[in-house]
Amino acid sequence: MMPIGVFGGTFDPVHYGHLRTAFEMLQALRFAEVRFIPCGDPPHRGETSASATERLEMVRVAVAGQPGFVADDREVRRDGPSYTIDTLVELRAENPGRSIGLILGMDAFLGLPRWHRWDEILDAAHIVVAHRPGWRAPDIGPLGELLDARGTLRVDDLHESPAGRIHIHAVTQLEISSTEIRELVEAGRDPRFLMPDPVRQVIAASKCYGELDNRYL
Ligand code: ATP
Repeated sequence: MMPIGVFGGTFDPVHYGHLRTAFEMLQALRFAEVRFIPCGDPPHRGETSASATERLEMVRVAVAGQPGFVADDREVRRDGPSYTIDTLVELRAENPGRSIGLILGMDAFLGLPRWHRWDEILDAAHIVVAHRPGWRAPDIGPLGELLDARGTLRVDDLHESPAGRIHIHAVTQLEISSTEIRELVEAGRDPRFLMPDPVRQVIAASKCYGELDNRYL
């Protein structure tokens, strides 16, 4: 059984930076699928701009018809703060013995020691870090030590055990961020070509970040 990739985020909104990263991981790491899991109630940040339902809808339309991509609504359905460890423990129980790879951007990886029960994450899954520009792998501190102990350059290591390794993988760098997209729409500009058009249509219909100019819809 091929490993499952897990890609969590606020996805406020989902964009091509996320989708391209997930696709390169799907192919290079030989995942059976990548599950996009929008956070219901993100514990590390304040209110999202779009609601959980809107963010889930944007992820759904972004992955619709894309082989190997799955939208997973479990964190939106679950009450209380969305902790990644709870999601991984659930997925582990549903997929005994199967390899699971948690995909994180390097910025997210560097914040890992602030996550709830972060030291249990590697018991449930591998961590796959997508390398983004301007971010260097830590060589000191708790993450430096963890990389020393658990880091691997071999993709096969992620297939040969269900959890416990860390693999850093370079992906095509698309300098797109959800924050920039929200600011762009708030400023009256159009996010076209930064995301699949069905996602932009959800933004237009829901007006979750502001109104889009009708002439281009
Ligand atoms: P925001 O600007 O609101 O912080 P974001 O664009 O960073 O959002 P998130 O939903 O917070 O998006 O990110 C989900 C995951 O995707 C994180 O692991 C993050 O590191 C990664 N990620 C975000 N943008 C990119 C990108 N352009 N390329 C690769 N990975 C990305």
